[in-house]
Amino acid sequence: MYKSVVIGTGPAGLTAAIYLARANLKPLVIEGPQPGGQLTTTTEVENFPGFIDGIQGPELMDNMRKQAERFGAEFHMGWVNSIEFGERPFKLHVEDLGEVVTETVILSTGATAKYLGIPGEEEYVGRGVSTCATCDGFFFRNKDIVVIGGGDSALEEANFLTRFASKVTLIHRRDELRASKIMQDRARANAKIDWALDRVPLEIIANDEHGVKGVKVRNNKTGEEEVIETSGVFVAIGHHPNTGFLGGAITTDSNGYIVTTPGTTETNIPGVFACGDVQDTRYRQAITAAGSGCMAAMDAERYIESLEHSAIAM
Ligand code: NAP
Repeated sequence: MYKSVVIGTGPAGLTAAIYLARANLKPLVIEGPQPGGQLTTTTEVENFPGFIDGIQGPELMDNMRKQAERFGAEFHMGWVNSIEFGERPFKLHVEDLGEVVTETVILSTGATAKYLGIPGEEEYVGRGVSTCATCDGFFFRNKDIVVIGGGDSALEEANFLTRFASKVTLIHRRDELRASKIMQDRARANAKIDWALDRVPLEIIANDEHGVKGVKVRNNKTGEEEVIETSGVFVAIGHHPNTGFLGGAITTDSNGYIVTTPGTTETNIPGVFACGDVQDTRYRQAITAAGSGCMAAMDAERYIESLEHSAIAM
């Protein structure tokens, strides 16, 4: 039996693993289909403290993994098919491993950025197409860029990107924005934002020599097609928290994000903790994910200690 199983290996899960391993709790860490999480799809990370010249996303994640291994964390790659939360210890059903029994579970499965699924998009992720303005905005200094989406994320990203870009064009498929009024007012007051409303994105125009050159869109009202020229495309149409395997046992909000007790990583089930983007609708940064991973490990340690105390008292 394990003391703790960590599911997910982004900065949250790996930080939890480092803390648990250093506390001699020998966690099992289950890596999903994208080991290292979203940071492995970015190139340079310049805002993770401690790296004066930045660090490549995959290298940062590889370092965290090695750090966890150094202290005794055990890794297994495979899907968690389901978890039996009804009995203690918890039972996980893991691909290629079968049944895994554990006293605590740390959920750090992250959130997956939604993509448009249009030609040119997937091929140019990290080469002109991004889903994270905070991560990649800096690379578009004095360039014309576009943001796609009409929600709070898109408007927040558009506003943020005007710090770097010469112009940001916001492409949205309707003429009405979904974003909150305050975000709309802020964006409308920003002279560097141009609006391409009622435009459905059809294709990212790009080639290997010059990278991204534009976005082909269709005018929703007239049916006309045009190319909006740009060197960078920020897709901001929302995220999916990765909670499907939980079978509805863990309380989530209406968008599927795990709800934790404020100021802690506790979920509705004692002994089950959540950290990183799977429970974060607000910050979604590598450093905040790592911080919440540390919190989850400490919460789990305390919970394990409480189990040991109650066993002695019996
Ligand atoms: P969202 O509110 O779901 O908005 C997604 C936007 O993308 C919508 O405008 C949608 O268009 C568009 N979209 C979706 N699929 C598309 C597609 N295939 N092609 C083109 N456009 C597409 O997502 P979000 O902006 O990430 O926000 C998620 C939650 O986080 C919200 O509750 C939001 O308030 C919150 N949030 C808050 C803040 C803040 O308070 N600072 C910042 C960011 C997010 P339609 O409108 O036509 O459906």
